[in-house]
Amino acid sequence: MAALLLQEIATRKATEDAMQGLTETDLKSGQNLIDSMVLDKPDVHALDVDAQGVVLVTCGICQRIGPIFKNYTQTSLLNLNPHIITIALNGGALLLANDSPLSRGLREDRVIIEHIRQASRGNGMKTAALLAHAPCAATEPYRFSLLKVIDLLVKAKARLKWELVGMKAACFLGMPGGNTYFVSQKKWDAWVASQGPAL
Ligand SMILES: [Zn+2]
Repeated sequence: MAALLLQEIATRKATEDAMQGLTETDLKSGQNLIDSMVLDKPDVHALDVDAQGVVLVTCGICQRIGPIFKNYTQTSLLNLNPHIITIALNGGALLLANDSPLSRGLREDRVIIEHIRQASRGNGMKTAALLAHAPCAATEPYRFSLLKVIDLLVKAKARLKWELVGMKAACFLGMPGGNTYFVSQKKWDAWVASQGPAL
């Protein structure tokens, strides 16, 4: 299914790809990461919104959050409020990485950390969903590759776990075509190591 999606994306007209901000290299990288299961279907990694709840860090214009939460649809249909605290700033979780250029000016990284800290203290939340999407308008000035986006996303998780000990975090990435993927930090680290210094 994932391979078909990427194949469909890859066959779009070049001008459309340019508008979407994903290069042919990005598409190949995406397929490689799906094949390596660095990017995985969110199903088994979905987070529980009915238990202690989840702090969601997302880009303001990326709303593909349904697949990353268990029972999200059912909870919504039953008119029960999903237990989610949303922090939505353009760039989403990419703002959080230690060396993220997106946060150099206004230091949104510190803002996000403090809001997650409050959610943890005040509402007992111990899990964060870190969501980014590619392409993202907030990253346009930097011309990030897809690999750079994933690198920042994984670093965002490391930053959060370093700042807030005991907090769990899971990374997710929205891609063109409507798919949202779980990003495995361990598999990403192994994949990067397998690529050698050329990456
Ligand atoms: Zn965005």
